[in-house]
Amino acid sequence: MKTLFRNATILTMDKTHGSSAFAGDLLVSNGRIEAIGPNLAADGARIIDATNKLLMPGLVNAHTHSSETFLRGRYERMPLEIWLLYAYPLLMGPQVDKRLVYLRSALLAMESLKSGVTTLCDDFFDPPGHDIERLACAFSAYEDAGIRANVSSAVMNIHALDALPYAREIMPEELKAKLDFGPPMTATAYMDYCDTVLSTLHGRANGRLRFMVAPSAPQRCTADMLQACYTLALRHGVPMHTHVLETKTQAVTGPEFYGKSLVAYLHDLGVLGPNTTIAHSVWVSDADIDLMGEAGCSVAHNAISNLKLGAGIAPIRRLLDAGVHVGLGTDGLSSNDTARIFDVMRVAALVQSASGPDYGDWLKADEVLTMATLGGARTAMLEDVTGSLETGKAADLLMLDLKSIAFTPLSDIGKHLVYSENGRSIELVMVDGRIVVEDDRMTLIDETEILAEIRERMPAYQANHAKLERANAIFEPTMAEVHRRAALAEIGFNRYVASGVKR
Ligand SMILES: [Zn+2]
Repeated sequence: MKTLFRNATILTMDKTHGSSAFAGDLLVSNGRIEAIGPNLAADGARIIDATNKLLMPGLVNAHTHSSETFLRGRYERMPLEIWLLYAYPLLMGPQVDKRLVYLRSALLAMESLKSGVTTLCDDFFDPPGHDIERLACAFSAYEDAGIRANVSSAVMNIHALDALPYAREIMPEELKAKLDFGPPMTATAYMDYCDTVLSTLHGRANGRLRFMVAPSAPQRCTADMLQACYTLALRHGVPMHTHVLETKTQAVTGPEFYGKSLVAYLHDLGVLGPNTTIAHSVWVSDADIDLMGEAGCSVAHNAISNLKLGAGIAPIRRLLDAGVHVGLGTDGLSSNDTARIFDVMRVAALVQSASGPDYGDWLKADEVLTMATLGGARTAMLEDVTGSLETGKAADLLMLDLKSIAFTPLSDIGKHLVYSENGRSIELVMVDGRIVVEDDRMTLIDETEILAEIRERMPAYQANHAKLERANAIFEPTMAEVHRRAALAEIGFNRYVASGVKR
């Protein structure tokens, strides 16, 4: 099956052309880009007239959590430590059933594809355990929708109160007693689970769906767990996907528990390397950034989530200068409320200017577009597969209407994409050579039916979640105090535009 896009404006985002667009044809054959150039032979292909259309690489969402998909539009004005109580309750209820696991991933995939995201990295979180049949439901949803995905199974094996500074001291004894979770998962047990996933689900859908190893955060996992994860990631050529230094509380955590920053801790354990992908990286010091650059690790920058949870502004210019690979993520739909990378591009580009007056350091549209495409692919260790339009790579691409309002009048296409476009100009989305969205319609799954089923299931789901929120509210004063004490701590640098707390 071949497709020829005729007479297109092409933005490859490859290392040679970057965001400089040029006119030409693009031929897709057997899922791959076979040729890019002028006047290509049709060779029996379906011909799509791409006059006044832009062809560009599909966007990569470098960090999200499908577990939050049903929690959009629910929270605001909560720092991470408080929000976690409600989005990831400490006192858990019964797990959602497997059909809901499927539906939440299907919803995430639909919103992603329709807004131009062709690859997503789902840090799949499904406490209390790890169940391959449940994980398979997420894989099935991504397979059915036609998206490319890296899916993890996030693990933590340190008690919540031992992963937060001050928490044991602040929390009243009677509340601590409620948080007895039994024996934590061992590194050996998690490795056994990962081995099973790697030999079954990993590589499904013609290699489009992959597994990534995901210790939730350094302070939430034992040292042997982190080391086992990194060894496994190296052996299988997959990322070790983890959360590091999202909030100031986490900047206090490292010195408090390990006598050094969390990045230095990862480095000293030997797990900071090219397979390490760090979500957030907001409260990293200059020394941390040097270590990250030397290690050649990656960062998933979640500009909107960081603002929603008041985490601060990540030092993206310094990370880029140090040679860290940077991609863009939405984070979960509870700390962002959409799966749209177009929104993240715009905010990521703009928010850096609040870091300081040195306008030479503010991000360029071209750099932000790279983060959303090839940079994101690198953070997912898929840079040889997707992220740019190049012969031999998978045909993961978008076709946008250049006659839409967002591109009228047309100046610099890269700047339009970052500052003006929001995904509404997308006319066609292709993944692995298959058209998965055309004329705003999912071609492989029935969007209307899936949305109707979700709406039908939501009253019961939301009532249950509200019950969990009420049960977990007893811990809020403790989390608020942890946040307050960390905010007052002197750590030598700041990622807010102002410092200090009122009370
Ligand atoms: Zn996250």
